[in-house]
Amino acid sequence: MTLHQNLIAGEWVGTDGVANVNPSNTNDVVGDYARASADDALAAIAAAKAAFLAWSRSGLLERHAILKKTADEILARKDELGRLLSREEGKTLAEGIGETVRAGQIFDFFAGEALRLAGEVIPSVRPNIGVEITREPVGVVGIITPWNFPIAIPAWKIAPALCYGNTVVFKPAELVPGCSWAIVDILHRAGLPKGVLNLVMGKGSVVGQAMLDSPDIQAITFTGSVGTGKRVAAASVEHNRKFQLEMGGKNPFVVLDDAELAVAVEAAVNSAFFSTGQRCTASSRLIVTEGIHDKFVAAMAERMNGLVVDDALKAGTHIGPVVDQGQLNQDTDYIAIGKQEGAKLAFGGELIARDTPGFYLQPALFTEATNQMRIAREEIFGPVAAVIRVKDYDEALAVANDTPFGLSSGIATTSLKHATHFKRNAEAGMVMVNLPTAGVDFHVPFGGRKGSSYGSREQGKYAAEFYTTVKTAYTLA
Ligand code: NAD
Repeated sequence: MTLHQNLIAGEWVGTDGVANVNPSNTNDVVGDYARASADDALAAIAAAKAAFLAWSRSGLLERHAILKKTADEILARKDELGRLLSREEGKTLAEGIGETVRAGQIFDFFAGEALRLAGEVIPSVRPNIGVEITREPVGVVGIITPWNFPIAIPAWKIAPALCYGNTVVFKPAELVPGCSWAIVDILHRAGLPKGVLNLVMGKGSVVGQAMLDSPDIQAITFTGSVGTGKRVAAASVEHNRKFQLEMGGKNPFVVLDDAELAVAVEAAVNSAFFSTGQRCTASSRLIVTEGIHDKFVAAMAERMNGLVVDDALKAGTHIGPVVDQGQLNQDTDYIAIGKQEGAKLAFGGELIARDTPGFYLQPALFTEATNQMRIAREEIFGPVAAVIRVKDYDEALAVANDTPFGLSSGIATTSLKHATHFKRNAEAGMVMVNLPTAGVDFHVPFGGRKGSSYGSREQGKYAAEFYTTVKTAYTLA
């Protein structure tokens, strides 16, 4: 099998490969991917440092052309790359292709942004002095990504980093190197100069840690778990480096008595179970007012009964497998914890067998849960949701906000008053009305509050905040 190597200083390097296994069929090896060492990470950082000056001064048309070419190739290969994504991560083919298209659109957006970077000219408070405010690249940017969006998250970090003139050391999640390798290959062939983008696939504790410990990385953008995020933060403070964290969620989805039942159920099923519940924006707390509670639970069970859980690549599959054995154990542990805590398992939750050996779990719905239970407080990151019954809107809002996290918050209601109040008062970076908590546009800010995020927003023009640094210049006229 061909070994997919790391890219360091414009050269493909690496000899030892690790198998990338399909979670829908563990007999299927997607490919062999090189595993970088700490020394490889240091070589990549040195290459990015050496390439910085020239790239930071490169012409905007050059950056535009490379990003645009990358966007065009990703979009032209959407079916093939979407299939690779579904094969290595386990989301359905439709979801895999959708995510790939989004990655292409992100590169296209930042190809445009490369031509739109602007500063300000402001009169000084002193006579005969001009003030110019400009944005400059930050330097070497370290990019560390999780496994659950194998192409979109790398895209939304790499595209703005390069667009604004930074050089990059990119470490994807161990579980899903395939899509990351593919987009680095595309960018490399699109004409990026040597060392501008370096790929180091490998272990977080080795490659990631070497990045955290390096004084030569000026900014780190991280998406992943809270625990690793805290390490990124501590190491970055130590090195006086810019950092940005997107971490966990425990997103609420409120259903009010006046909701349209079909809209509420569709949004709740999507929020909780699509992409196998493995989205940071997934909802695992369904907060439902008394008057609609029983109808909602019955309709959810009926809808869940119709969900097909099977091989991600099979036509007709709605929910693919869990990503690996470790995550499956975490999901089933939380299902056991929910039962012990006194919640009622109203639907699903059992392991299921399919034609091929894979990590298949029937989506689980708990009822009679309280917001104090661990299943309502801790991120499970699987297809497991709990219904929490509340009296009225005020209690629903209080319960929705009673969480250490604050990424996305949703509500199903036909009341303009409650929708408006919720938009203003939900303690979250993103609020959804009559829509799933997950599913966002690529050209507007993405990110959360409280324990979910740290630093400036990702995506859209707001990304410039992280990937540039502001300079204020004064000139005597
Ligand atoms: P993780 O924290 O285990 O890993 C994330 C990345 O960090 C991986 O590339 C990993 O190799 C690396 N890493 C691990 N140890 C490291 C270390 N010591 N130093 C440097 N890097 C290290 O997270 P995961 O399991 O891959 O992803 C799941 C988590 O990601 C969930 O908590 C989920 O909510 C979160 N997530 C958040 C968002 C968001 O935008 N808020 C999006 C997707 C996923």
